[in-house]
Amino acid sequence: MTFVRYLLIALVSTILLAAVAPRLGPGPKVLPRVLAQSTPGAKPAPDNAPPAYSLPPEKLAKAITLSHIRLALDIVGSLWGLAVLWLLLATRAAISLAAWTRRLLSRHWLQGLLFFAAFFVITTLASLPLDVIGHVVSRHYAISVQGWGSWFYDQAKGLGLTLVFGSFILLLFNWIVRISPRRYWVWLWLITLPLIVLTVFVSPLLDPIFNKFEPLTKDHAALVQKLETVVARTGTNIAPDRMFLMKASAKSNGLNAYVTGIGATKRFVMWDTATDRLPDDEVLFIFGHESGHYVLNHIPKMLAGTSAALFFVFWGCAALSAWLVRRFGARWQLVGEQDGDAALSSRPGFLVLLLSLSVAGFLLAPASNTFSRHFEHQADVYGQEAIHGIVADPQKTAVSGFNHLGEAWLEDPSPNAFVEFWTYNHPSVQTRANFALHYDPWANGGHGEFFDK
Ligand SMILES: [Zn+2]
Repeated sequence: MTFVRYLLIALVSTILLAAVAPRLGPGPKVLPRVLAQSTPGAKPAPDNAPPAYSLPPEKLAKAITLSHIRLALDIVGSLWGLAVLWLLLATRAAISLAAWTRRLLSRHWLQGLLFFAAFFVITTLASLPLDVIGHVVSRHYAISVQGWGSWFYDQAKGLGLTLVFGSFILLLFNWIVRISPRRYWVWLWLITLPLIVLTVFVSPLLDPIFNKFEPLTKDHAALVQKLETVVARTGTNIAPDRMFLMKASAKSNGLNAYVTGIGATKRFVMWDTATDRLPDDEVLFIFGHESGHYVLNHIPKMLAGTSAALFFVFWGCAALSAWLVRRFGARWQLVGEQDGDAALSSRPGFLVLLLSLSVAGFLLAPASNTFSRHFEHQADVYGQEAIHGIVADPQKTAVSGFNHLGEAWLEDPSPNAFVEFWTYNHPSVQTRANFALHYDPWANGGHGEFFDK
């Protein structure tokens, strides 16, 4: 997720997030059964067929353990994030912090900047132990190969960006709550839209802060030529100068590729782990999948859907915040800074709104993931159709690609259905491989969903 995460932390939510960067990636996952069955061309699997995605025994045991650890970290991390916000309010630490900024600085807006910057430092430090555990686990299972020095440097850079962008955004949001205590949520919603678009636009430009990128043509000219045949079939007009190679192998053993950016920054990025370890046919399939995100306008659609949802999220969170202030305001000693000010507009009071948004983000994650899984499934179908006539056997290519993907990330071949529903933003590797195995719309002279032949 790299940088998009840091900026959006400022907008506080996982809702905005899972959405805007569709990638083939390691993914969390599930595809609603109905969807799989209703797609034309998919044949039902015979009952005794072996699974389309499988792992050798020793990797299977690791994958299952790892999936439990990932889930635990995910749940604990979400709840801990909410708890930290609650504790800042309940222990009145936020009140003390605001008082400290007033003693140190005279200008009101500078006090605000310092308050929100300190807030980001505190929340980052609070989540650091869990992040460290996550990295220990990732290194233990040889998914990450990133050394601790480099890892801490990345965390520091992430925090730096959050401080620079996030503090100003929260200051702006806080100001809006103060000048429009009754209708602030409409204004927040309105300015969030351009902010998200700006974030998507800018994120590819900031990605090089964390990883090295180079033109894909530099060391993979022959591969780019093959990709051009897919470009010709899909009519995507993705020029070779919009294709990049990310030097992921310095930090990871995972396989990944993604589309990112919007307008002038729109691009296709392939991890070097994938180009180095996957056969070209499978890279073409991944490219076809990513092309699907382009052609089917998944980024604009996710943005539109997110925007529509955010209207209700901000409305609901304003109501929840007002209730929290009525219920706990006195106990948390929240008061407006000027006469007539709502408590919510004070610096510490503003954290109540952030708490509400975090709760919404937690509860709405399954909805956001469900949309994401739908788009990922569409891209899978598109990818398989895009390489028809280009690779010898699209079914075999896709299934093999998913097996490589699953093995690289140690994906559990049979994850719990509820866990998939709640946390997976891609269908499970098993679901994807299974679909690919049986998807053959060209049998008996038919054609696919997105191509005439
Ligand atoms: Zn994707």
